[in-house]
Amino acid sequence: MNFHEYQAKEIFASYGIPIPAGIVARSVDEAVAAAEKLGGDAWVVKAQVHAGGRGKAGGVKFSTSLDAVKENTKNMLGMTIETYQTGGMALPVNEVLITAAADIKQEIYLSVLVDRANKCISFVVCAEGGMDIEEVAKTTPELIHTVIVENNEGLYPYECRKVGFQMGLTSKQTRQLTGIMLALHKMFVENDLALVEVNPLIIDGNDDIVALDAKIAIDDNALFRHKNLAALRDKTQEDPAEAEAHEHELNYIKLDGNIACMVNGAGLAMATMDVIKLKGGDPANFLDVGGGATAARVATAFKIILSDKNVKSILVNIFGGIVRCDLIAQGIIDAIKEVGVEQPIIVRLEGTNVEKGKALIEQSGLAVIAADDLDDAANKAVAAVA
Ligand code: GDP
Ligand code: MN
Repeated sequence: MNFHEYQAKEIFASYGIPIPAGIVARSVDEAVAAAEKLGGDAWVVKAQVHAGGRGKAGGVKFSTSLDAVKENTKNMLGMTIETYQTGGMALPVNEVLITAAADIKQEIYLSVLVDRANKCISFVVCAEGGMDIEEVAKTTPELIHTVIVENNEGLYPYECRKVGFQMGLTSKQTRQLTGIMLALHKMFVENDLALVEVNPLIIDGNDDIVALDAKIAIDDNALFRHKNLAALRDKTQEDPAEAEAHEHELNYIKLDGNIACMVNGAGLAMATMDVIKLKGGDPANFLDVGGGATAARVATAFKIILSDKNVKSILVNIFGGIVRCDLIAQGIIDAIKEVGVEQPIIVRLEGTNVEKGKALIEQSGLAVIAADDLDDAANKAVAAVA
């Protein structure tokens, strides 16, 4: 799950990480009042959407008068923003963050991530941060420093000081960077985060280091023990089909292909997608209906699958381990009747009560294509879209 910049910054502040003063606004009047309250003579109006790259998409506006704050807020609220990070979705702007404008001497890139290759948390830091970090990574990767936090006790201050000196920071700035990195590490671990990105972390007019932007993602599997963070969810920023799936405890991720998959178990879902690929097809989604797939859940799963207009065939691959195949078969039959599926449906059932399940589908009179095994099912699903 992702957070808005203003939410991430509140969490930063609670860990003592310096951020520019800012107030969130949901209307033009609120924005002007926020700027007045912040004081000074320059503000930044920042669209709150779950994506970076806003600067380049018109979602970050430097404003040197209250009129400009008003104008920029008026233009931003209600607009949608599509950046290279939104995956083709246009995200609605319902809130803007008004910040006191900072003077920027340098933009540093800093992120904290789960480093799967090294089985630990790693920091990525670069003295050339800002809106063109992707270009820096491509053309001058030697400027990017990685700190791998290998020990269980956490990050050692000397590891932070080393990057500070590598980047040519002064000793005061290096001390500040160390404090920020230690706080970020603590925040990351305590909140089960999956990613933190600060781009840019700036050196401001007073030579102090401040987090000018903030991005946080939490591991969804840990949301149950972070109720305060779970409450910050903003569904307007999510793909509607993925949000509905989430509500029904279905694990759905939309992809670009045209063969939909409905599978029980994440491992089996991955294997199903692999075999579709192997046969020359393209999966339209990842969908794990879970171990306790009930008829109602299968029906919801069909509805979500069908909301994707690219879907040309549906492969149902169920292993009846915890759940019985005849129950699932009945669920599939009820769902097809209820939802009215027009695309070819290929069903492969295996496991407990498989014969009963197959018989039910046969007797239903529905145009369901039965498959003997996964290989056969994938062949038939690919043939159906050809
Ligand atoms: P992003 O484009 O979504 O990553 O949004 P950011 O919050 O990173 O802002 C984009 C860019 O706007 C930054 O890299 C800065 O160059 C600029 N910017 C944002 N806030 C300020 C500010 O307070 N002062 C100045 N001078 N520039 C800012
Ligand atoms: Mn940024």
